[in-house]
Amino acid sequence: MTKSKICIHPWSHVNINPNGDVWPCCHQRGPEMYVLGNFKTQTIEEIFNDEPMRKLRRDMIAGKLPEEVCMKCIEYEKMDIFSPRMEANRQPYAPEIMKLVEQTKPDGSIENFKIKYWDLRWSNKCNMACIMCDPDWSSLWTQNLRAHYKNMSDEVIESDGMLKHYRDKIGDDKVMHVPDMGWIDKHIHDVENIYFAGGEPLLMDEHWYILEKLDKLGRHDVKIKYNTNMSKIEHLGKKGLDYWRNWPRSHMSIEASIDETGERAEYIRSGTVWPTVEKNIRTLVDAEVKVQPNTSIGAYNVMRLPELLEELWELFKRPNVNIPLRINLNPVLNNWCRIHILPDEWKQNTKQKLLKIQQAKFPVTKLEKILYELDRPQNIDATHAFFRHISFLDLNKHTTLFDALPEFKELDDMYGNLYDKFKNEWIEKSNYKRHSSTSADIHSSIHN
Ligand code: SF4
Repeated sequence: MTKSKICIHPWSHVNINPNGDVWPCCHQRGPEMYVLGNFKTQTIEEIFNDEPMRKLRRDMIAGKLPEEVCMKCIEYEKMDIFSPRMEANRQPYAPEIMKLVEQTKPDGSIENFKIKYWDLRWSNKCNMACIMCDPDWSSLWTQNLRAHYKNMSDEVIESDGMLKHYRDKIGDDKVMHVPDMGWIDKHIHDVENIYFAGGEPLLMDEHWYILEKLDKLGRHDVKIKYNTNMSKIEHLGKKGLDYWRNWPRSHMSIEASIDETGERAEYIRSGTVWPTVEKNIRTLVDAEVKVQPNTSIGAYNVMRLPELLEELWELFKRPNVNIPLRINLNPVLNNWCRIHILPDEWKQNTKQKLLKIQQAKFPVTKLEKILYELDRPQNIDATHAFFRHISFLDLNKHTTLFDALPEFKELDDMYGNLYDKFKNEWIEKSNYKRHSSTSADIHSSIHN
């Protein structure tokens, strides 16, 4: 057996998604999603030794990283870039898992497995509908779209690519409550790393169940990491800080999805109440919890990035505590709201401002990716798509694009007032069922 193409994930990890699908890991890239099974209809134990997982193990043992799953790691490693597989294989529990690899049966199954790393995104339950997100990951997005679609005929939806794309995502209900928590109880003594994401993990009862259980068992050695919108640090009478205080700083971190401040944040991440989010951040910073911004950058916020970095630094910094703070930037790749919708001159002006930022003052990760995005030429089709998309999302909002992000008025003027043109088209398309109460609501919000 060659160990050169082993990744410990198929022997030690599950990545659980809001529709119930279980994936080998969140880095999987291939022609389509490789699904190991679905926890709505199978137990995690069944999935862990079912054929899709067994095949992955057999391939890796045979010295091959499966291209239909592991393309990202294959490409990173070809370019000599540290890959997620390398990261997985250097976890403290990796030697134990490598021994298990040697005990794998010829059909790829294993006995006495230990699921060491849980990546839990098991519901799309969320109180925000962020511009760059979609219904797969937000129940509020789903709810908003369903309200729009009540006013549109099937023919209208079917004849429009964008409407059809979203309609196909809101048909099935996602998991709101995990049907079987038995595997949690069974494997909680083995787990070493847990990543809580979503949806919004701090709204999910299952998160609090696990946190309480770990706390009661004294398993503060388990590394816990969150991706949260910071709207809630308490839930149903439970306070996060009462638990998190018991974890060593090295074993707990919170990535806060903060892309803007004030009213701009309330527009970009619709559902945000900025004073609450700000208060929650300050509470965690004051309690010396490791919390840092994980900031998505699209066309809608990149031009203010230099100022935003200053504001985030002020908000998250802990002058008296030695906890490293980084502002983690993630370029948004959705074609319609990607940085490339902006005129080249605007992008270059932003780039020049960013180049002046003192990296020593602001440790920022992936700034180079944002600079790369700023150098890509404008995609005018995407500029049109931006106004079409955003005018649709604005249909049920009280604050609309030009109220929240006035700089886009100039862009709209350059292209002949696309926003109003598209908005009028949406209103026409929404007229079909104008007698329904939802239609009346939407009409009043449009015209107010
Ligand atoms: S090799 Fe990479 S993509 Fe494949 S399971 Fe491991 S980390 Fe995930």
